[in-house]
Amino acid sequence: MSGRKATTSTENAHQKWLTPELSPSEIGPGHVSGLFATDRGLFLLPSRIGIDVTRRQAIGFISHAHMDHAASHGLALCTEATAKMVKHRLGNVTTRVMRFGQAIEVAGHPLTALPAGHIFGSAMLLTEHEKGSLLYTGDFRLGTSATAEPAELCQADYLIMECTFGHPKYRLPSREVVTEMLLEKVTQAIRRGATPVISAYVLGKSQEVTKILTSNGIPVLQHPAVYEISQIYQAAGCDLGDFRPYEGRPIAGCAVIIPPRPITPGGLPGALHVEKFHVTGWAMDEKRRNSAPKDHWIPLSDHADFDQLLSAVEQVSPKSVFCTHGPKSFVEELRKRGHDARWLK
Ligand SMILES: [Zn+2]
Ligand SMILES: [Zn+2]
Repeated sequence: MSGRKATTSTENAHQKWLTPELSPSEIGPGHVSGLFATDRGLFLLPSRIGIDVTRRQAIGFISHAHMDHAASHGLALCTEATAKMVKHRLGNVTTRVMRFGQAIEVAGHPLTALPAGHIFGSAMLLTEHEKGSLLYTGDFRLGTSATAEPAELCQADYLIMECTFGHPKYRLPSREVVTEMLLEKVTQAIRRGATPVISAYVLGKSQEVTKILTSNGIPVLQHPAVYEISQIYQAAGCDLGDFRPYEGRPIAGCAVIIPPRPITPGGLPGALHVEKFHVTGWAMDEKRRNSAPKDHWIPLSDHADFDQLLSAVEQVSPKSVFCTHGPKSFVEELRKRGHDARWLK
């Protein structure tokens, strides 16, 4: 690409700040022209490195391998675990591996990955810029996890934060309480002679549930799509204990993990007596629970809940916070608490 062309694309990116994506009134006096821009995705300026952009970029940071954050970039910047998962999902992408806490320099930007606590290998991105420091959380969660490295927040001038559960109805019970709830209900189902069938996201949640169960003496059988990812976890150094692929029949005393959509409308092939579990933060939502009221709903989430989101902003203590995902009302919640907060489309 010629220098002239590059300048034009940067200017276009700057223009995005003044287009309807973020109106001047929405930007307010403290806007950060020249630091980052949105253009159907987020870009660091002036280099235009993509940040979790879902279409191919020359250079793109990938916070984790959920497909709403990844693309087959010319050069993908990510942690080692994410690199393995991205390659599994998207083929042979060229990656530059980032180690947590160690800055690398790319296109003139010092970039540091910090643990995000969302899934194993998930990362936030910190950069020092002449306009100020910027922390991008990607999907994140505070506190302990059976499989994800605990999130490490740091102070930054500007914070771009995922706010999926940015409504007070999403105040989740503590991880200890939820883990107990899961173990107790699964154990009870086994005692009743049923096969506990747990539906969970293939990447991340399935492995965390597996680890929770196996480290409490409950072996796990996995749907092939889950098993493939679990093997990558193992190869990347996250041991999941006693798990095997599900081979068409349940084994007494074992739990089964399947993707969120049922394998067959009738339930699990080969199993007569099934008790179904949904393990998701959306279990806090009555409407969701009512969609399958006979099933067990366990509110174990890999996203920060409402209180954790507020706590994250306090800890980072930014001049401005930009919210992505989640309800727009969360911006008001932050403003009420005295923060300079805006919605970032
Ligand atoms: Zn995610
Ligand atoms: Zn996401």
